[in-house]
Amino acid sequence: MKTIHHFDFNSKKALIRVDFNVPLNDELKVTDATRIEAAKPTIIKILEDGGSCVLMSHLGRPKGVQDEFSLKHIVNTIEDVIGVDVQFAENCVGEVAEAAVANLEDGQILLLENLRFHEEEKKGDPNFAEQLSKLGDIYVNDAFGTAHRAHASTSVVASYFGENKCFGSLLAKEIESIGKVMASGEKPVTAILGGAKVSSKITIIENILDKVDHVIIGGGMTFTFIKALGGQIGNSLVEDEYLALAKTILEKAKTKGVEIHLPVDAVIADNFSNDANTQIVDTTKIPDGWMGLDVGPETSVKFAAVLAKSKTILWNGPLGVFELEAFSKGTIALGNAIVAATENGAFSLVGGGDSVAAAKQFGLSEKVSYVSTGGGAMLESLEGKVLPGIAAILN
Ligand code: AMP
Repeated sequence: MKTIHHFDFNSKKALIRVDFNVPLNDELKVTDATRIEAAKPTIIKILEDGGSCVLMSHLGRPKGVQDEFSLKHIVNTIEDVIGVDVQFAENCVGEVAEAAVANLEDGQILLLENLRFHEEEKKGDPNFAEQLSKLGDIYVNDAFGTAHRAHASTSVVASYFGENKCFGSLLAKEIESIGKVMASGEKPVTAILGGAKVSSKITIIENILDKVDHVIIGGGMTFTFIKALGGQIGNSLVEDEYLALAKTILEKAKTKGVEIHLPVDAVIADNFSNDANTQIVDTTKIPDGWMGLDVGPETSVKFAAVLAKSKTILWNGPLGVFELEAFSKGTIALGNAIVAATENGAFSLVGGGDSVAAAKQFGLSEKVSYVSTGGGAMLESLEGKVLPGIAAILN
């Protein structure tokens, strides 16, 4: 895997695809600079080598050129995060961009205008990609958040750089972390799958059955499995059209020697709110009118025991409705068990959607081995898909 550390950027212009799709408030100020901070190591390495950085990104979903989606609004934040002045080109291709690049000196940073102001970007248009390719000597992809898209700047552009292309630090770390779980994870490997629905995780479950030793299931999808096994689930979330598939998955797991751990008790509620009446019951005996919204304490102890003996852990999806305090305990307990396993030497990866939000909310992000930055890209990796942004560098 070729990364920025295989290149000396001295006197070179690096064309870097970053993911600066950051949230802006009504005054068009950046409210969360995490994605800019994530690209800092790559930018700093190139500047310290004596090279310059041409940064390209998309922001939001503009329809043509729309001022509120201009990347000029984030220039000050990049300057604050990196500590270097940032020049801005009002177009990402053509004369304006080419002149700005020609004037760029070693040690300097140039930010190009929003790639998605041109519809050719999302279409993966080769002519547009060729125009982008004129703006640097070495192409660096450091945008995991868009690595699952075959867009001009994320994949097509790479073909114009021959051998002069590589992964930035952030993308390299993402690829390594996923590889540690899916390909070379120290055994036992445990995947925790939570969240709302079975339907959105089916491909992941099927793919990981070949790669893991344990699967912990939680969240709303629990109840499709419990019902498939003949349990009473009351008014809990269920996808009846997936009952047969849930059964097949349980059987497949058995033949592959994978242990599936389902919650044994649940926190049930008589409505979907923090001040609902609640009880803790056996997951297979939920009365009508009640729904399971979190795992119960016995389940938390059981899951923690599985995690304590795991050497590699993947966490995708909360175990309950963690946004409501009354149903957050199971997810917090799980997070703490992952942290404890990590302290004992396990590798833990938190990735995809709401588990990342939960880890942040409960202050666990710094205590696990790696928190992924790319929602959709992470999910597609777990589904076993080859991401176009990664393939383009490897080819
Ligand atoms: P996902 O995007 O699939 O990871 O789903 C995350 C969502 O699942 C969160 O918003 C949780 O509130 C929700 N969720 C977790 N457990 C349950 C449950 N038992 N019933 C309904 N929704 C749940």
